Amino acid sequence: AIPLVISITTAVSAKAGILVKDRLAIERMRTVDAVLFDKTGTLTKGEHTVAGVSGAEGVDGDEVLHLAAAVESDSEHPLARAIVAHHGRAHGEAARASDFRSRTGKGVEATVDGKRYAVGGPALLRELGVEAPPELDGDIDAWSGRGATVLHLVALGSASNDRASNGSASSDHASNGSAPDGSEPRVLGSIALEDEVRPEARQAIADLRAQGVQKIAMITGDARAVAEAVAADLGFVEGRDEVFAEVLPADKDQAVADLQRRGLRVAMVGDGVNDAPALARADVGIAIGAGTDVAIESAGVVLASSDPRGVGGVRRLSKASYRKMI
Ligand code: ADP
Ligand code: MG
Repeated sequence: AIPLVISITTAVSAKAGILVKDRLAIERMRTVDAVLFDKTGTLTKGEHTVAGVSGAEGVDGDEVLHLAAAVESDSEHPLARAIVAHHGRAHGEAARASDFRSRTGKGVEATVDGKRYAVGGPALLRELGVEAPPELDGDIDAWSGRGATVLHLVALGSASNDRASNGSASSDHASNGSAPDGSEPRVLGSIALEDEVRPEARQAIADLRAQGVQKIAMITGDARAVAEAVAADLGFVEGRDEVFAEVLPADKDQAVADLQRRGLRVAMVGDGVNDAPALARADVGIAIGAGTDVAIESAGVVLASSDPRGVGGVRRLSKASYRKMI
């Protein structure tokens, strides 16, 4: 027979939309000191919209959007989908692009009309060793300041024949800043994308604090300025809470390890493929909403809805089942 405690817990959790995969995870949730949230899709809606486009000196904004949409046309990333959709609504189909290559956690590149272009965030610019021209600084600062993600369109030069015909050989060129034809990469323009904070996220965080969670943390591949703006919006407290920004997908679990090394018990909340190792490493892994299969597999607890307030529900369930046990 199933012990009474477990059957009660199971009935309560099912009603609350909490799927318990690992009963020990529920038990540990009661003692968690830090809750680490993935930003995109967990604390924010994960549905981006284009909020602004600016061209560098002599480059038209429409041209920037047109080329960026072409380069992004083969990418599944939510930022890419937003650019393509926005361009489609305003101008119809994007130009034809070929020889796509993704730079994981940084951006993508492709050939349009015989020329090579890349689209990506600050990490891409660092990798290429280029900076946005000064005339774009004002817009970029204003966009980042209000929490928008900023992507840049970079001209890499003409696509050489060997690059077009041999994708893998081209990665040698692409890992540094020089273009196939030897010219220097140049930022042609920038695009701002906004992703709304989930209205329930602020409440979810306040609830966890009220339940005695010491530290709230957020992790993202996004730029530091964007992450800090979102954190401020969510009521993060400086010096106590924490923001891990510009983290490459493969390094997300290192943030969990970092918190654990400081003696904290960590619950990680996420939905994406790249959250899976972090969910597995955490003391409690919580997959949220219509998360990816990998995320669900790696988590001890799965929330049926995408509402981050469910995390506080898991903690309450943990306390309630403990009381019933003693
Ligand atoms: P998150 O951790 O927020 O889910 P990702 O690791 O998916 O973010 O992406 C991190 C950053 O890499 C993005 O903020 C963006 O700057 C850049 N990036 C990733 N994919 C693309 C893409 N298809 N086009 C442009 N930029 C991209
Ligand atoms: Mg994500």
